[in-house]
Amino acid sequence: MILKGRNRVGEPIEIEAEGDGALNLERVILPAFYDMHSHLENAYSLNLTGYNNSSSLHEAVERWAKVRDSLTLEELKLRIERSALIELFYGTTHIRVHADTCSKGLKSVKAAILAKEELSPYIDVQVVAFPEQGIFNCSKESFLEGSKISDLIGGKPEVESAEEHIKFITEIAEKLGKNLDVHVDQGDGSTKFSEMLLDLAKTHVALSHLTALHFYPEEYARLLVHKIKEKGSSVISSPLTAFYLNGGNSYPMPRGITRINYLLSAGVNVSLGHDDVINPFYPSGSGDMLHVLWMAMNIERNFDLSWVNLITENAEKEFGVKNVDYVVLEAKSVVEGLSTLLPRWGVIRKGKIVAKNSMEPKVLDLNPMEILRTMLNE
Ligand SMILES: [Zn+2]
Repeated sequence: MILKGRNRVGEPIEIEAEGDGALNLERVILPAFYDMHSHLENAYSLNLTGYNNSSSLHEAVERWAKVRDSLTLEELKLRIERSALIELFYGTTHIRVHADTCSKGLKSVKAAILAKEELSPYIDVQVVAFPEQGIFNCSKESFLEGSKISDLIGGKPEVESAEEHIKFITEIAEKLGKNLDVHVDQGDGSTKFSEMLLDLAKTHVALSHLTALHFYPEEYARLLVHKIKEKGSSVISSPLTAFYLNGGNSYPMPRGITRINYLLSAGVNVSLGHDDVINPFYPSGSGDMLHVLWMAMNIERNFDLSWVNLITENAEKEFGVKNVDYVVLEAKSVVEGLSTLLPRWGVIRKGKIVAKNSMEPKVLDLNPMEILRTMLNE
């Protein structure tokens, strides 16, 4: 079957799906989305952990750590799978999952690897060995074991001796021949660990969060971004969680996400992650990467539609798996899609329609989307 629609810039596009005939969708067809940074083992866990009263990363980690080890491997796997399938409904077919190597018996990592296998008909999952509370604070041996069975090596240097931590993860990555994706400089500019990480990494490195770049003085920011570019490293931003966790509790309240405009202008590959959903790290969210993109556009005050690449082409480069999947928006233009954020018309995975929404919005006998389209085009 041929599905006909419009691409990001409004040109006609045709894609193939199983079945006969042709269907003129009259909607936007985009490459399927990537979620480049997620913690699915604790997605939708706010009812278990309780609310994060201080809106701080520290309290979020403490709350989750108390619950984490009481869940079985099967329960963690189910949580990962269900959360991933909700993302699929919104058009995401590639997810990078950070799995906690501090979990008892490496349950989180093992659950993510089992889920990866079961989700493969629908979603490509990459698993990152992620030491939420540290490598040496938890167990060096567990981190090593988790790294061997994961796709990428993660890190979080701020939680212990940063120098030792960075040396350890870069050496393991080199030894195992795996890329790095590290939670680094996720704060108000008081840490500068990215530089050391870039200097020591022998394999490709993605810098997750890097919110500190928002706060660094101009001269240091310029030097660091130059180094990121020279090294061919990527930056992955998670605007929903960063917006919530940063800024402290007094005014002025800077809502730090990394400098996306600045990095893109310097030629750095930037992509986005959902990170958290309805958990102590971020108490809202939907699993919709279009919503994440919308948030990034708002914070960075840039509504250039080429930013769709942050959840498609740019992410594809970092993920390293060719995207053959598509998402059909319930919209005739990207502007309309970003305005309404309506559930997607459908998702096509390797030529098969794997997700479909049948909602038809109505106000009495009127279709509010038709009214919106008229207004957007008159
Ligand atoms: Zn994270």
